[in-house]
Amino acid sequence: MTTFLELGLSKKVMQAIDEMGFEEPSPIQAQCIPVVVTGKDVVGQAQTGTGKTAAFGIPLVEMAANARHVQSLILTPTRELAIQVAGELRKIAKYKRIRTLPIYGGQSIGHQIKALQQGVQIVIGTPGRVLDHIRRGTLKLDKVRTIVLDEADEMLDMGFIEDIEAILQETPKERQTLLFSATMPDLVKKLAKRYMKEPVAVTINRGEVSVPLIEQVYYKVLERNKLESLCRIIDSEEIQLGIIFCRTKRGVDELTEALIARGYMTDGLHGDLSQAQRDRVMKKFRNGEIEMLIATDVAARGIDVGNVSHVVNYDIPQDPESYVHRIGRTGRAGKRGLALTLVTPREYKLFKTIEKETKANIVMREVPTLADVAERQAEIWRDRLRATVQEGGLAHYRAILGNLLDEFDPIDLAAAALKLTAGDAQSEDAEDYDFGDTGAAPGMVRFFINIGRSAKIGPSDLIRTISEEAGIPVRAIGKIDIFDKFTFLEVEEESAPFVFESLRQSRINGSRVNLEPARPRERMSRR
Ligand code: ADP
Ligand code: MG
Repeated sequence: MTTFLELGLSKKVMQAIDEMGFEEPSPIQAQCIPVVVTGKDVVGQAQTGTGKTAAFGIPLVEMAANARHVQSLILTPTRELAIQVAGELRKIAKYKRIRTLPIYGGQSIGHQIKALQQGVQIVIGTPGRVLDHIRRGTLKLDKVRTIVLDEADEMLDMGFIEDIEAILQETPKERQTLLFSATMPDLVKKLAKRYMKEPVAVTINRGEVSVPLIEQVYYKVLERNKLESLCRIIDSEEIQLGIIFCRTKRGVDELTEALIARGYMTDGLHGDLSQAQRDRVMKKFRNGEIEMLIATDVAARGIDVGNVSHVVNYDIPQDPESYVHRIGRTGRAGKRGLALTLVTPREYKLFKTIEKETKANIVMREVPTLADVAERQAEIWRDRLRATVQEGGLAHYRAILGNLLDEFDPIDLAAAALKLTAGDAQSEDAEDYDFGDTGAAPGMVRFFINIGRSAKIGPSDLIRTISEEAGIPVRAIGKIDIFDKFTFLEVEEESAPFVFESLRQSRINGSRVNLEPARPRERMSRR
């Protein structure tokens, strides 16, 4: 195991990474960072979600100097990715005076030109828009040290090869070239061969993984009600001892706080705690003083507790190995174990990969409805109130009530106090799927897909593919209109985010497809 410290990073970058909540480098990061900082070319291959951005982002920021010219250029296939990568780099560069700028089509070019004129060290862009700026003379690449081709397979798939080649011509011959990709089709290999100098290949191989016999379940949830869903799920389970996994240290802290506020007996465990603090948490866990331990993968590695009844993946694991690792914490010594995984629309593709690679049978379950759980929750509150009254020691609180008793009904006051205590701690950074008016029937969302009859797809292919890719029942798919070159289809609102994230860039029958929310007028104009 390598730590970020062992990678020899500067204090400023270490501090930023720490605040991002990364505990240790992912395998692709551990292997790429030391090579990239030597200036060598690198071809990095690892599946989606394994942290490739920081694998080049950390060394780029580390190597960046204050001089106000473009030192690194990162090419990404889509504007979303450009924005995402820029965001991650900005966080890594938080304590260095390095400016990053995403440039992509669809945003006013004037605004981008102004930003470029102010002096930017790292530019992240889509090939078309980057080329546009080069031709206008607003982006100069003659002093670029490093160029990154991110998600190279996607870029080539989308037909950007000529643009990429044209951009490479504009950069100095002695530049460093980095290429990252989830897969290595021939086109990508050819590109690497033509434009890279003796690249070091870093491939994260996924070894055979086998899943122990543990009952496995997943729930589809939306980011914005993930916490509420988790509470409903754990309320409906009889958890004797559970471990809840989060991806980052910050995630552990936030979830711990939120669950404690809601009256759960939990505590968090992660790498920032001192040995003494950890020992204390583990002791409480072993003694059953806490029912659920919230932990990062790293922190949980050292844990050896025999009777864990539940493992909950609050955040999806980064790869199949860590899935197996996590769920292996339960079902020990012949005891029955249950592994529960929450999956958001954005995580669905990675989840499918994990399911496929582990050959696990992970069964979908509906999140228990609020009504199911409400009664149980009420029961819990009544128990707690009863116990508190019997315990006594209320004089101080009675005094607080003071003359409120003259103003209000005591039952209202008790209810208000309960409301304050049980108050909701909703997670804020929830992406909302508001597809707007798509011209669909009530309760449905209508999508536009850029392929139709000429790509030899029929309704049954489409229904099967969508239901498989997005993990939704066939009955959630409504009206389908297939035209020559495009298709409209309606799906139930509840399933729409999963359909959107799983199919917006994918393949059907070998054709590359793009799916987006329809606009109401398209019903008429595209016909
Ligand atoms: P990829 O490009 O390989 O698909 P990303 O770079 O987009 O993957 O990373 C996926 C997610 O993992 C991001 O949310 C990122 O912030 C997070 N991540 C990356 N590296 C680490 C790490 N070392 N520890 C925890 N989370 C990480
Ligand atoms: Mg990536």
